[in-house]
Formats: sequence, structure tokens, C-alpha cells
Amino acid sequence: MKKLIIGNWKLNGNIKTIKKNIQEIEKNIKTKNCEVSIAPPIIYLQFLKNLTKKITITSQNIDKHLEGAYTGEISGYMLKNIGVKYVIIGHSERRKYHLENNKIILKKIKASIKAKLHPILCIGENNKEYDQKKSIQICYKQIKFIFKKNINILNKLIIAYEPIWAIGTGKNASITHINKIHNFLKKKTKHQIKILYGGSVNKTNFKNIIIQKNVDGLLIGTSSLDTKIFVKIINTVNKITKKK
Ligand code: PEP
Repeated sequence: MKKLIIGNWKLNGNIKTIKKNIQEIEKNIKTKNCEVSIAPPIIYLQFLKNLTKKITITSQNIDKHLEGAYTGEISGYMLKNIGVKYVIIGHSERRKYHLENNKIILKKIKASIKAKLHPILCIGENNKEYDQKKSIQICYKQIKFIFKKNINILNKLIIAYEPIWAIGTGKNASITHINKIHNFLKKKTKHQIKILYGGSVNKTNFKNIIIQKNVDGLLIGTSSLDTKIFVKIINTVNKITKKK
């Protein structure tokens, strides 16, 4: 199976830097054995899409409504309309700064599926929960409500395991911990869905993480903003996957 590498550019960049970076990435990446997707700030989705043939496009957000009187929002139909493939839902930054809870997250997942987009659900425990050895319990809680409500949704999901304490901190989870959580998630979802890892993936730790059997891809924030590092990660993943 092709590994999926997603770069989450968050609230960074402008027309000039996005053009420069995407052209450099497009020119240098090999994508025979892996899929590369980039999530730029939403306002640049269409612009980025027009600059690439090798990279798929991910949205950092979606509205829970598909159309109507919802000023300022962007719907799944609109994202689909401009060629978006994936949507990140439930990122810890949206849970924290935009108070997104399970109810909203489920609505957004449903909206993305209705619009024929692939939702990527981000889950993960915080520092305290990690210290209290509650990681599995928290992750299960964050997927269980979807499981309960609609099993068909789960079959269409991608999950990104992103421990909150590892996001943007330079402190990635250990391989033992990643395997423990990914094995658990694979088992709970009957090995039907892709599980990505995210949280301080960088040029030195990515290789060890991506070679794990139950790691289907990476969600990369900080290191995806450095084009040289991002290209290196992609090309190495492409090479390793080919050899398997
Ligand atoms: C993220 O925000 O999804 C993320 C994984 O960020 P970073 O790679 O910077 O930890």
C-alpha cells in the first residue's frame, strides 16, 4: 500500500512563498510509491492546486453545513469543486482554539463524506493523560462515538494519531508508544483504515516511524514548511516503500 505523506502548513505562507515552495517540491519529489498531499491555508487551496500535478490537496478545515446562510464558512461541496481530496478534522489546535467537540467533529466528518471528500480525523492524548498512561483510553474515546453512531463512516475514515504533547514541541512519541497506539487502532477498526502518525516528525526520526507495519503515513507540520527537509522525507519514504 502507498504511504501517505501530508504536509500541514497551518497559518503560514503567502502567494510568493507558496509558489516557490510548491514548485521546488513538485520538481524534486518522486511519488511512485507514496502519495503526497499538502494542506495550505484554505485561501490558497485553488492556487496550489493549479501549480501541481504530483501532489493532492488537503483542506485544513470544513464547515459542518454543506450550503446555506452560514456567513464566512467553506463547505465540502466547494472544496470538492476545486479538487480537494482530504480534509483534516478534529486537529488539536481546532479543538483547543475553536472549541470543536465530538458533536461538531462528527457533523464535519459526515459533511465531508457527503461531499465525497476523505476525512482525516486527528486524535491524541495530552501530556497529563500520557503521564497517567491513559493514551489508549483517550484515543478510544475519540473514535468510539463515531463507531457507535455510524459504522459506515468509520470505513471511510483515515485516522491521524497525533499526541498533543508531541505537536510542535520537538518531542516525538517513541516507536514503542506509536506501535502500541497504532496496533490498538488497527485492531479496533478491523484493519480497514489508514492510520497516520503526526507529532514532531523530522528529518532524523521519520524513517524509523514510517517503517512500522501499522504506520500508513505521516502528518507533518513544522518539517513540511522546510522544503528541503520535506522533499528528503518524501523521497526516502518513496525509496524504502519500493524496496519492501
Ligand atoms: C500537526 O500540527 O499536525 C503536526 C504534526 O505538527 P508538527 O509536525 O509541527 O508537530
